[in-house]
Amino acid sequence: MTAKNNPKAASVLKKDDLITVAGAGGFIAGALVRYFSDQGFTRIRAIDKKPLPEWYQRTPGVECLCLDLRNEDNCKRACEDAVEVYNLAADMGGMGFIERFRIECLRSILINTHMIEAAYRAGATRFFFSSSACAYNTDLQKDPNVRALKESDAYPAMAERGYGWEKLMSEMFCQEYWSERGFETHTARFHNVFGEFGTWDGGREKAPAALCRKVIECKDQGIDEVVIWGDGKQTRSFMYIDDCTLGIDMIMHCDALIATPINLGSDYLISINDLMLLAEKIGGVTLKHKHDLSAPQGVAGRNSDNTFIQQVLGWAPSTPLEDGLRKTYTWIEKQYNDRKAGKRTVS
Ligand code: NAD
Repeated sequence: MTAKNNPKAASVLKKDDLITVAGAGGFIAGALVRYFSDQGFTRIRAIDKKPLPEWYQRTPGVECLCLDLRNEDNCKRACEDAVEVYNLAADMGGMGFIERFRIECLRSILINTHMIEAAYRAGATRFFFSSSACAYNTDLQKDPNVRALKESDAYPAMAERGYGWEKLMSEMFCQEYWSERGFETHTARFHNVFGEFGTWDGGREKAPAALCRKVIECKDQGIDEVVIWGDGKQTRSFMYIDDCTLGIDMIMHCDALIATPINLGSDYLISINDLMLLAEKIGGVTLKHKHDLSAPQGVAGRNSDNTFIQQVLGWAPSTPLEDGLRKTYTWIEKQYNDRKAGKRTVS
């Protein structure tokens, strides 16, 4: 799918305009920093609360700061002189994390509250917020054969407890900063994102990385049975990271999307059972499936309706799932082997 001639950072900003990216020690913001650096931007400030050695990736030439952005003064420091601010920092993880740690998820409201105010006071031109499909009404997601979610489905609100409500509330901040103060904000509702340099172990990982890791573990340990959370009939769509970074850039620079939350996700729906089979195909094994019905599995089904993004941008994420998963599998396998060899790895 080709994009219309949409403005992107490269055509709107000067190469030495300062871009602040929050959450850059993590998966998506880390990739976004690299994306901007690849576009030739020379002043990028990357921030995360994790100590620098624990960042998933560090891009050479980028100013990297270890700051906890729940703190107001740290947000002022992060936004000083910034022309654009991208807030992707949040305490988050896959289903296993967001169902168990709702308070931590809710407390991310502090990050967005202080970051948007600091960006506004610093005189930034634009502010980006990473919302989530978890902001959608859960009543519409009770069937694995879901109707894809369109932007208006967030209201009447019945978001995912904890994580989803925080996203919805932060979206509202973004909309009110535009309507009351004329501060330009852009919000994307990400549907599951996956790829290299994402969390793959430790409890915060999401389904694609978790399933790849399980296949790799089974192969390595000679086990022929794999555990799937829930009955595996739950469905989701998964967006490859390169589509996500390009989408963020286009959404941020589209005037029709000021203060207008929009889906950023793949609309290719797949069950967790079928995703497992795909990971096995990539790994070249066939495993028996054991279902853990007591494990968290989230809503029954969730997909992205891409009508609106097609209409405004003439583009939607289109990397084939198998292509993205193959790259992700290869990267996780290397991490796994490196860890076994006692080397430092991501997550
Ligand atoms: P991630 O966990 O890899 O990255 C988030 C980063 O934010 C982490 O490195 C974390 O240390 C940092 N952070 C947390 N609290 C902080 C604080 N107080 N101060 C500074 N940094 C802090 O997650 P990700 O997958 O890269 O997600 C990025 C954004 O996209 C998040 O807002 C998330 O809610 C949203 N999102 C992600 C997905 C997905 O599938 N990955 C889906 C929907 C929405």
